[in-house]
Parts: sequence; C-alpha cells; structure tokens
Amino acid sequence: MASKWALVLHGGAGPIFGQDYSAQEKHLASLLKAGGQRLAAGETALDVVESLVAAMEASGLYLAGKGAAPNTAGEYELDAAIMDGRTRNAGAVGALQGVLSPIAAARMVMERTPNVLIVAAGARRLADAAGLATVEDPGAYYAPVDERTRQVGAPDVGTVGAVALDLYGDMSAATSTAGIMNKTPGRIGDTPVIGAGTWADERCAISCTGLGEYFIRANAAADVSARIRYGGSDLEPAVQGALDDVKRLGGEGGMIAVSANGDMAALFNSGGMKRGMTNSDGRFEVATFL
Ligand code: ASP
Repeated sequence: MASKWALVLHGGAGPIFGQDYSAQEKHLASLLKAGGQRLAAGETALDVVESLVAAMEASGLYLAGKGAAPNTAGEYELDAAIMDGRTRNAGAVGALQGVLSPIAAARMVMERTPNVLIVAAGARRLADAAGLATVEDPGAYYAPVDERTRQVGAPDVGTVGAVALDLYGDMSAATSTAGIMNKTPGRIGDTPVIGAGTWADERCAISCTGLGEYFIRANAAADVSARIRYGGSDLEPAVQGALDDVKRLGGEGGMIAVSANGDMAALFNSGGMKRGMTNSDGRFEVATFL
C-alpha cells in the first residue's frame, strides 16, 4: 500500500472582494481535517469525496445543496457528478429537483444504473426509487437568496468540489452545484458533464468551478489529464494550461486537482476561490483570495 494521501476542496470561484468568508474557511478546515483522518485510516478517495461534498451541500454555506439559488422560474435545479479514477466509473445528475443530496444521486446513477448522466424528472424518479432523502418544502429548505444577496451586495456563486488520492493510489472527484444565479430553466453547466467540470482517472482527479459554458467548450477537466498523458506535464502546469484555455475562450473560474504522485493544485483566474488542501506530509492550507 502506498503511504501517501492528498485532499483538495473548493467552495466555488466566485467570491466577492471584501466579503467575509471566515465561516466557509472554518468549515473547509474542519472538512479537510476530518477527510484527512479518514484517508489516513484507509478510507477510499471515492467515499471521502462523496461525503465531503455532501457535507458542503448540507451546510448551506455555498451555492450548492441547501445554499442553492433558484432558476428564473423559481425552481431549484441542481447538478452533480462523481467519478472513480480507479475504474473510470462515473455518475451524474442534471437539473435535478427535490433531492436533498445531489451528489448522493450522482453516486446512485454510477452504482445502480448502466448510465452516466440522468437529468430532470428521470433522475428524480430514480432517486425516489432508491429511497434517497427528498426536500419536502423547497421554499423552507433552501437558504433565501434575497437575504444572501442583501448580505453580500451582489449575487454570489459557489459550486463545491472535492478531489482525493487515497492510500491505495486511487483518485476520485466529486462536484455539486446549483449552477449560476438566475439561470434559464433546464440549463446544465459543466459540473455534471464528465470531462468538462469533473474528471478522475489513473493520472489525476479534477473538479472545476466557474462559468460552466466555457469549461464545457474547453473540456477543461479532462484536458488536465490529456496534458499529463500526451505532454508529460506535471500537475500544476497542466491545470494552468487548461485554465488558460478557458480564459482564451473568455471564461473564468478555478480548478482543484490531485495527481497519482500526490501533487495538489488549486488554481483560479477569477478574483478568488474558496479552497483548501491537506496531505500526508502535513501540508494544511485554507484560503479564499490570493
Ligand atoms: N460551474 C458552475 C456552472 O456553470 C458554476 C460555478 O462553478 O459556480 O454550473
């Protein structure tokens, strides 16, 4: 068994300068601590990234899960994806309504169906059949957006993601989001598009945040692996190259990444990204802005 593990989290690449994100940073630090202990104890990257993303969804501190914002029709449509780098199995949901944990629904698609991406009512039916917890009263469950907008002075964005390398040398990625504020009903971003917003294989695991349309057009997450595979790149320049491509198209955002040798990266070309990383060498960092 390898002796290395690594864990990187993000809480979205749209922080507003001057806003206090200490609650999110404190939360990320506690998740990193707990997640690191679990990886050190031999839990798989797949289980750890799923449960850390579920905890971020449930916290209401980010624009995912409980913190979701509605689309222009007032509906809460959520996207999520999970990918197991060991097997390259993947599961994702898009425009899913009324399910408490979209990442649990994504894992259900991965493990209980022959499919990769299921959206809207079909995803909801599968989640109900699998007995996943539901949101009975969306108006009461989701954090009121007006209040948050008033607090921050402008709409916030805040997808959540986790990538990890476990003691077995395997990597996984998980991402969950409500997408962008005031999105068009039915709009699906990069998060549940495998290869665009979420990717894991035997080289790296990646979770993205930012304007999803650009990450889809750049196939950003899988591009990091391609840069390692065909260009012999190290992790950080590979992530930077993929982000530069997003920027060339006019987009901005950030990415978190781990590689098979234990390298970690959390880069962004937006104003900031709520993020944290820790590993078996004792590294432990949490930050929002540069
Ligand atoms: N990437 C997400 C989307 O476009 C949004 C975000 O990361 O904030 O759906």
